[in-house]
Amino acid sequence: MTAQTTATTSSARTAPADTYAPYSPAETEAHWYDFWVKHDLFKPESHPNFPERTPFVITMPPPNVTGGLHNGHTLFVTLEDVMIRWHRMLGDPSLWVPGRDHAGIAGQLVVERDLKAKGIDRHDLGREKFLDQMWEWMETYGLQIQKQLRKLGASADWSRDMFTMDPHHVRAVRTAFVHLFDKGLIYRGHRIANWCKDCQTVLSDLEVDYKEVHGQLTYVRYPIVEGDDQWITVATTRPETILGDVGVAVNPNDTRYQQLIGKHVRIPHVNRIGVIMADDVVDPEFGTGAVKITPAHDPTDFEIAQRHILPAINVMNLDGTMNEAAGAYAGLTTQEARKRLVQELEQHGQLVKQEPYTHSVGHCHRSGTVIEPLLLDQWYLRIKPLADPAIQVVRDGSIRIIPERFARVYYNWMENIRDWCISRQLWWGHRIPVYYCDAPGCSRQWASVDEPERCPECGSAEFHQDPDVLDTWFSSGLWPFSTLGWPDETPDLRMFYPTSVMETGHDILFFWVARMIMFGLEFTGQIPFHTVYLHGLIRAEGGVKMSKTKGNVQDPLELIAEYGTDALRLGVAIGLTPGNDFTLTPTILDARRDFVNKLWNIGRFVMAGTTAEQRRGALQPAVPSADAALVERWIASRLASVTTEVTRLLGEFNFGEAGRVIHDFLWDEVADWYLEAFKFLSRTGKADGALLARVFEKTLCLLHPYAPFVTEELWQRLTTGTANRPISIMLAEWPRAADTHDASAEAEWDDIRALTRATRMLRHEYHIEPSSTVAASILARTPAAAAFWRANADLLGALPGTRLNPIQVVESASGAPPELAARSIGAVAGGAELLIPAEGLFDVQTELTRTRTDLADADKQVKRLENLLGGEFTRKAPPDTVERERERLNEQRERLETLERRHETLTRLAGGGGSLE
Ligand SMILES: [Zn+2]
Ligand SMILES: [Zn+2]
Repeated sequence: MTAQTTATTSSARTAPADTYAPYSPAETEAHWYDFWVKHDLFKPESHPNFPERTPFVITMPPPNVTGGLHNGHTLFVTLEDVMIRWHRMLGDPSLWVPGRDHAGIAGQLVVERDLKAKGIDRHDLGREKFLDQMWEWMETYGLQIQKQLRKLGASADWSRDMFTMDPHHVRAVRTAFVHLFDKGLIYRGHRIANWCKDCQTVLSDLEVDYKEVHGQLTYVRYPIVEGDDQWITVATTRPETILGDVGVAVNPNDTRYQQLIGKHVRIPHVNRIGVIMADDVVDPEFGTGAVKITPAHDPTDFEIAQRHILPAINVMNLDGTMNEAAGAYAGLTTQEARKRLVQELEQHGQLVKQEPYTHSVGHCHRSGTVIEPLLLDQWYLRIKPLADPAIQVVRDGSIRIIPERFARVYYNWMENIRDWCISRQLWWGHRIPVYYCDAPGCSRQWASVDEPERCPECGSAEFHQDPDVLDTWFSSGLWPFSTLGWPDETPDLRMFYPTSVMETGHDILFFWVARMIMFGLEFTGQIPFHTVYLHGLIRAEGGVKMSKTKGNVQDPLELIAEYGTDALRLGVAIGLTPGNDFTLTPTILDARRDFVNKLWNIGRFVMAGTTAEQRRGALQPAVPSADAALVERWIASRLASVTTEVTRLLGEFNFGEAGRVIHDFLWDEVADWYLEAFKFLSRTGKADGALLARVFEKTLCLLHPYAPFVTEELWQRLTTGTANRPISIMLAEWPRAADTHDASAEAEWDDIRALTRATRMLRHEYHIEPSSTVAASILARTPAAAAFWRANADLLGALPGTRLNPIQVVESASGAPPELAARSIGAVAGGAELLIPAEGLFDVQTELTRTRTDLADADKQVKRLENLLGGEFTRKAPPDTVERERERLNEQRERLETLERRHETLTRLAGGGGSLE
């Protein structure tokens, strides 16, 4: 089907449009999501402008299939869906490609943990059976994630859904690997790698988080071989690595050690002879200025050893225990070995001292375990040749990063990038497509996209595949184009690539975004997307980071059940600023649910206040008729401004502010003023129902990207029966600002609002019974003002909270007639003065007494605060406490002024004589 399909009868539910039960999100959401799917509305091919117009494309960051979704996902789904829905309405065929990620280490860890809870160890299962378990998990949770994304209203094209372990993506990964391998960019590196003994794999530098740790610095003296009773003292944070020492290094400029350079030391316990060498990288300020050299367990030491041609002695096993090279310490954990070795050093008089020392230690990004730097053979990707062009495309503006401050972070990282360790000792993931010939005499090693049958060198069928898998980010880096068919030249790849926007969290700028840019350029010769939009994190109440261990992870499904999807989406979107963290609280969600209900009630009002005939014109521009009432000219003008502003804000990726503008327009202007005035106009038959329907239709369209369900429901009810309408609000035209800007209408309506508010305040201040209607006079200083207020007096008196009737408009250039002023309470606002004769409205003496009590209290508060702020307090208290007290003083001073004015008025009304004493 195409979007040209029109629905002249209700395409939705058959309930009469004027039946308005209270809003039920669950029912509405399920109904419309199914409707959209049934009509293929998420497919770009269903768009009326397909294929003529350039499509708008987003590749969804594939959620990890490690469990259910959390509110971090709610945020990205909302923001991306806002963009996709907006562009669809703008007229761009829009494609949002969904998918799920196998999640490498994270995926393997959850399943291992799950098995462990059942008493099963993965090693007992074996690789094959364990992978069966992995697949089972992926299928169960993959389905759950899809369901959750749908519940969140994601208008993603499910027919293009992909999993990172699907056969197609597997081929993409192997193709990419073989390309880089054959180009010589992938190589086997023998160097210090980051080993996690819990995950049992190496990690890339990015997967290591550095944290400050309170440890100890141990000073140990090593005897010098060439001199009797001569020693050199070194300091170390990891004494157990002494067992792997090959020497001691000092800075060549350090005068303390000049005479020792070239001499030898006897390494404690192992009695190995090591050389004392000079190397520029040694920091003379650290410890004693002399450092032990352990090439197999420290990257810097490894480099020093390479320069001085020294061996590397590995003293650790992969499970974090000491190996045979550690002699008597073999089999102990590093912690046990450390403790025992320190004791032994002490016994031998070689322990100088131990002192507390805070230093930065690498921890596993996934398990939090302390990383052991180990000398290992791993696969590396030479990244510099890929990084240079990726820096260039951001510098020249081909790719724009929002917020801009992250571009600097990107350059800094990319310019100092180090080769990427891509092999992982895991079972779950893309297995490295490197094969080794096992035929005697043939040592061929090759990479292959397809499963090979024979050795390309000797033709032997005896060969084996590398046991390791690839870093999961290697696979993710291909995502924007593998999802569109790469490495095949597919129609999708031609039509939808490069994509438009990559929207994701700023925490994976390097992990993911940078790699997609590098791979995109390398494999497709094109940038993978034009814009990178980075969002902040959603924090739990109190601003703390959400985590499973803290138990403060909010389950989107629970929130949806409680508040409805639209309220949840509005909750995460409104107020958000790019790149900044955001706290989602129940208070916010309550307010957004109230807003959705308010919108529902506005819908009810619009249906009741318009005829079917009027609603049939709802899609027309919201232009007021020639004889329109002031409020109608005003709302049309405001709608035009809001449309312009929201469109601009969305174009600038300012989703939080755009959402707030629509929200405030609906609540503060449409509901509070336009609809209230409309009620008044209806009573005299002057209300323009057609305009109301049009204003409401445009407003629903503006809000649709944020709150897709309730807007669809209301829009369908509103436009049922309209000829040539699109089948869904999803394909309705994005509002264009009508040529209805009307500065004088806006200024005049502001006057009415001001006097209305002043009237409400006056009634409140004098405790006038809310239900009583009171007479009033409006004093206008010019004939034009008098005419204006005469025309609008009845409306003013009818607005909620004013209850003024009759209103007499008095024209007087010189102010209020003394006789009237003497017996009235009054307020000045909106260029006029409102006077309400006080007689019979309240008891003057009671009000006077009450005001005097309040006055005395205000006076006391002001004096107290003035004293406080005049004294020691301002110097001693924290600045924000002082600031708070200052604000309090200002409030009390204002209160005092208001009360003094009221006291004056009441004194006058009482016939004079009311003194404060
Ligand atoms: Zn780990
Ligand atoms: Zn061979």
